[in-house]
Amino acid sequence: MRVPFGSFLSDFLHLLYPPYCVACAGPLVKGEDWICTSCLMQLPRPGYHLYRENPVFLRLVGRLPLDFAAAFLLFTRGGRVQHILHALKYHNVPALAVYLGKIFGGDLKEAGLGSKADMIVPVPLHPARQRKRGYNQSAEFARGLSAAINVPLNTSILVRARATETQTRKNRLMRWQNVENAFALKQAEAVKGRRILLVDDVITTGATLEACGQILVKAGAASLSVAGIAYAG
Ligand SMILES: [Zn+2]
Repeated sequence: MRVPFGSFLSDFLHLLYPPYCVACAGPLVKGEDWICTSCLMQLPRPGYHLYRENPVFLRLVGRLPLDFAAAFLLFTRGGRVQHILHALKYHNVPALAVYLGKIFGGDLKEAGLGSKADMIVPVPLHPARQRKRGYNQSAEFARGLSAAINVPLNTSILVRARATETQTRKNRLMRWQNVENAFALKQAEAVKGRRILLVDDVITTGATLEACGQILVKAGAASLSVAGIAYAG
């Protein structure tokens, strides 16, 4: 949320929200939201949306018919991005995900990619996990993207039909088996002929995106693009 500096509302928000940087834990000053200016300038932003055959695209090419593939941040262990992702998962901060989505949406818009999608679809969380976390960070990031590029968000297209185990300690084959049949389509008619931007939180092997993307392609999506909050190569 952007509110005027020094307003009552912004002072109030600083009482409600953690007044420290989610990337370095340093104090935030007025006018800074979530991430301090120094961290914001030093975030590893790979700029994959600026060229087609980037690492995310190459990871999924041949598995999905892709228009473009993008990721906002590069994951590094112990670095700023890991701290941000940790906050998204465990600190109940949906507005942080929206904030990041708006920044990245600005990047996509500037690159002319905003006009390449008719609908934004986030990878769903299993309802039990979403209840526990309070929100789906991919959907909130997608909400920020949607606001920035002015493309509608639809959070009801895909559902997670089966709870999956955490992917962290799985190799590529195990990850694929883990997500196979985990997702289901709810609104087939809404997909037909639409150019869809599919949004995930952290892109690793691409198994989750592949599972969701194949469902959308089978349902008649006109084109498919993918975007993640971060890429862990
Ligand atoms: Zn910082």
